[in-house]
Amino acid sequence: MKPAILLATPLLPATEATLEREFTCHRKGFDTSRAGEIRGVATFNRADAALIESLPNLEIIASSTVGVDGVDLAAAKRRGIRVTNTPGVLDDCTAETALALMLNVVHRYPASERWLREGRWAAQGAFMLGSQLAGKTLGILGYGRIGEAIAQRALAFGMTVRYHNRHRKACPHPYDESAEALARNSDILLVATPGGDETRHLVDARVLEALGPEGWLVNIARGSVVDEAALLAALRERRIRGAGIDVFLNEPDINPAFFTIENAVLFPHMGSASIETRIAMGELMIENLRRHFAGEPLATPFG
Ligand code: NAP
Repeated sequence: MKPAILLATPLLPATEATLEREFTCHRKGFDTSRAGEIRGVATFNRADAALIESLPNLEIIASSTVGVDGVDLAAAKRRGIRVTNTPGVLDDCTAETALALMLNVVHRYPASERWLREGRWAAQGAFMLGSQLAGKTLGILGYGRIGEAIAQRALAFGMTVRYHNRHRKACPHPYDESAEALARNSDILLVATPGGDETRHLVDARVLEALGPEGWLVNIARGSVVDEAALLAALRERRIRGAGIDVFLNEPDINPAFFTIENAVLFPHMGSASIETRIAMGELMIENLRRHFAGEPLATPFG
């Protein structure tokens, strides 16, 4: 008999098709009298305590994401439920998104395109000059798998890289002792840590002040890592030069104050949003489910 799982969020059609073949799949609004049959949850970073508590025989939560800040890890741990994520397979795509944000905010390409489309090139002349990545120092806050993939690309663009983690790494780049020191020593502060309680507001008003009026902030981590109120104020008052942001609090209902901020480039959480990467994330999530139900070691257990 196929194991029964709950698809707690919509997933890629190709991923859902494979899940349908290999498992008995239930979805939101399922007949709760069958809750006891469900042994697994497949999700895109969503499984709160209420969902976990409603499934008495749950054994595994498999997320098709690397960050699992949307899974109630404490509730899972209390019940001895295994959690898996999909590290590694999204590094390239997320690093490309980070480079896109850096290029767009530093060169001001989106605003230059608006200038062209509004017919202002002919009417008012050339768009204002931007700046460039070559020669700039990139400070990576959270120099893990994705941080390293970003660093490789930044070096190819002629940038210098430095970083801050809680633990120093064996790598050629200079280490800073704190987020604030890293911000002070960088032209662009790029945030690539996990989300969750441990990193909440790691980038606060003091870090933004250290980055200063010539510095840019780029966040591809999670909205919670940056104090959004402090960021919005710093952008409005030009206490930092600009920001490139892929992740927000309360997505997709983000703070509307962002809509009118002129010196920021905003992406709707595009970090891993390529078809190739989403397929790979789905496959790795499914591989974890397969292995769990076959009694084999998990491919990528979280934590
Ligand atoms: P990873 O390999 O675990 O790297 C995370 C890095 O952050 C580690 O080097 C870690 O080093 C550092 N870190 C953790 N807590 C920290 C703290 N309190 N202060 C300073 N540094 C800290 O993870 P990854 O695969 O690179 O992914 C990183 C995160 O990127 C994910 O968790 C996710 O939130 C985000 N992400 C976003 C997107 C998107 O669509 N925008 C896509 C993929 C991933 P230490 O342990 O030494 O501190």
